Amino acid sequence: MPNNLTRDEARERARLLNVASYDVELDLTTGPDTFRSTTTVTFTATRPGASTFIELAADTVHQVSLNGAALDPARVFDGERITLPDLAESNRLVVVADCRYSRTGEGLHRFVDPVDEAVYLYTQFETYDAHRMYACFDQPDLKATFTLTVTHPADWKVISNSAVAAVAEAAIGVRVTRFLTTPVMSTYITALVAGPYHEVRDHHDGIDLGLYCRSSLAEFLDPPEIFEITRAGFDFYHRVFDYRYPFGKYDQLFVPEFNAGAMENAGCVTFLEDYVFRAKVTEARRERRAETILHEMAHMWFGDLVTMRWWDDLWLNESFATYMSVLAQVTSTRFTNGWTTFANAEKAWAYRQDQLSSTHPIVADAVDMDAVRTNFDGITYAKGASVLKQLVAWVGQEEFLSGLRSYFRRYEYSNTTLRDLLDELENASGRDLTVWAADWLETTGVNTLRPRFETDSSGLFTTFNVVQEPASSPPTASKTLRPHRLAIGLYDRDTEGYLVRRERVELDVVGELTEVPKLIGARRPDLVLLNDDDLTFAKIRLDDRSLATLITDIGRVRDSLPRALCWSAAWDMTRDAELAARDYVSLVLAGVDAEDDIGVVQTLLARAATTLNSYGDPANRKAALRALCERAETLMRAAPAGSDLQLVYATTFAQAEDPDQVARIKAIFDGEDVVEGLALDTELRWTLLTQLVARGVYGDAEIDAELARDATAAGEKRATTARAARPTPQAKAKAWADVMESDKLSNHLLTATMAGFWVVDQQELTRPYVDRYFAEIGDIWRNRSFDTAGSITQMLFPHDVIEQETVERVDAYIAEKDPVSPLRRALVEGRDGLVRALAARARDIEAGKAAATS
Ligand SMILES: [Zn+2]
Repeated sequence: MPNNLTRDEARERARLLNVASYDVELDLTTGPDTFRSTTTVTFTATRPGASTFIELAADTVHQVSLNGAALDPARVFDGERITLPDLAESNRLVVVADCRYSRTGEGLHRFVDPVDEAVYLYTQFETYDAHRMYACFDQPDLKATFTLTVTHPADWKVISNSAVAAVAEAAIGVRVTRFLTTPVMSTYITALVAGPYHEVRDHHDGIDLGLYCRSSLAEFLDPPEIFEITRAGFDFYHRVFDYRYPFGKYDQLFVPEFNAGAMENAGCVTFLEDYVFRAKVTEARRERRAETILHEMAHMWFGDLVTMRWWDDLWLNESFATYMSVLAQVTSTRFTNGWTTFANAEKAWAYRQDQLSSTHPIVADAVDMDAVRTNFDGITYAKGASVLKQLVAWVGQEEFLSGLRSYFRRYEYSNTTLRDLLDELENASGRDLTVWAADWLETTGVNTLRPRFETDSSGLFTTFNVVQEPASSPPTASKTLRPHRLAIGLYDRDTEGYLVRRERVELDVVGELTEVPKLIGARRPDLVLLNDDDLTFAKIRLDDRSLATLITDIGRVRDSLPRALCWSAAWDMTRDAELAARDYVSLVLAGVDAEDDIGVVQTLLARAATTLNSYGDPANRKAALRALCERAETLMRAAPAGSDLQLVYATTFAQAEDPDQVARIKAIFDGEDVVEGLALDTELRWTLLTQLVARGVYGDAEIDAELARDATAAGEKRATTARAARPTPQAKAKAWADVMESDKLSNHLLTATMAGFWVVDQQELTRPYVDRYFAEIGDIWRNRSFDTAGSITQMLFPHDVIEQETVERVDAYIAEKDPVSPLRRALVEGRDGLVRALAARARDIEAGKAAATS
């Protein structure tokens, strides 16, 4: 288990210390394993004579000097912390150490490009890894200035939070780069990126802009589009926040083997390099990248300029950035369907996570860093953002933005809690948010809303109520009924058969039953849509006529957001075993070609596959998969040449297992069947090949040949996945050993291996690994880093072995082993998925019987 810090320790230290500055000197020319790190910290203590500690993860500490007195590293350094005794009022600490490069994406990560052997470094410090690079008081509310000096090979670019102040030649081939001193900031957003990166520069509104990626990816970088989004972002945020970007220049860097999507280091934002597109991607993927760019920009104000005092408020940081990025997207970029994507992606994630046994209130009780690390989940990111959207509906958007403007001015360069933000929003809106915050932020679970109405003989509503139900799963969820600001839409077919909104009513729904007097006397429509415009966070149900309308005409709902809400409702009902899996798949097959939002199309096809694999009668699976692939193939061949749709249908078709269909995939891969406009680029070739390998059609020789064509870091990852997907006992044994029995794989090759391990129709081969999983997973948490152990636990869990026996294995393991909390949590979540799938399967089997006898 990694280093830890408790909230109590952090509070105590924040009371004692006021940190002024870090002066950090790094030497990156000391070999491939470690680097020299020299830190000078100046800080004051409120109680002279007291002692404290500073964090450092280092192989060797050479020197610790406090106020001129040398401390013996052997006595004061325990591998994670340096004890600092007898503080003066004003202190100067110098620490010299050798720190280790990381291969897990935590700390200062080192990557060697297989194309040209070039070395690339970057840091990732959130939440608690800055002290892997330099000695620091590693908590968000001890802000200080940061002055970095780096000794490095002369052909490298080095980038940090601030602009370069000076560069000097130190020796032949060695340079020293010194950066300007930063404004005060938290340790977790300090950063260093170094290596022979490709660089593109631009500027906007007085801000210097930079883009970076590995040299071998330079040809794929598309600066015009990334800069366009960035410029739109600055204009938008300057306008709505009325506060200038505070960190000088703004660099965006695409870095290898990154664990997250991106990281908001002040002025030095790092991104997953998958966002440099090597092959054709859909507009949905570009939309996602734009959202990520705007999300990180929002953090420059919310997170970096004003920072949470402790990680309890991590959710607010993330929710805010997510909410603002979508708002920026729909108002300032070409991605005007951002709220549809939000409904389709974030909301779905939040609903799923909030129905797991591991759910927790949005405001988490983060007692230490272990608890914080576990909370980077769908509650923190997605439910938080959904509830923030509801808060904006509750207080009003203009009031919300006005509250923010005063918040940034008041708390610039300091730290806050949720209460500080609520105070500003209350001042701006005049609404008391205490009850609202308690009902939404301190409880768990998602309410279900149903329409209940009566009509007269001519079809006019005589009553109309919204029924609110408490959360039903997990059983431990809060039974709270919440206040919802929501809209109800009435939709009718127009003369062309499209479903268009006739009426919209917005109201507060509170308690179990809320009357909607405005709808009395209105004609019953073809579709009643609760939570229209997706203002609140709740599952919605449909009345019988509305459901019947959707079964025939879901693709005919004119606007993308209500259509996405209808698709979500059907998906929720399937997951809750209220709609049979076969009916959901039929709904997708019938309606998907009328869907024009490419992100929704991708989601629907993925959900259809999940449904037939996990929620459907296993006896029906082969036939259902054949039907899905047949539909996808037909649509692929009919789609406009070169279109996003064609690509999405091709990747769906590639999942086929039916021998005739597999033969047709092989013909496409081999170039014997040319589908006009379908580019067989690197990514699609790997996707098709991996499927052909999993089916046993192709093997090692073809993987090696493909890797020779694409001898890149990305190619290596794809080849690793393909190798693990081979349908042989040897391939599974090797993949398992590579993951479980050594620590030699980098974070990305580790996940690439696991991505190929479980294949639905390979259960005869993989079944023995259910036992091995439970036998070996405990050791993983003793021997590996937090991120590594977490991804192994989640990705190798036998999600596909949907049997009561697997559920019982989890129960027995937890009862016998009393696992550490992050392991327990991941196991319980896996168990929840199995239980849900078993219930949905039972529902589908029942529906199959009913269909056979009727
Ligand atoms: Zn974020």
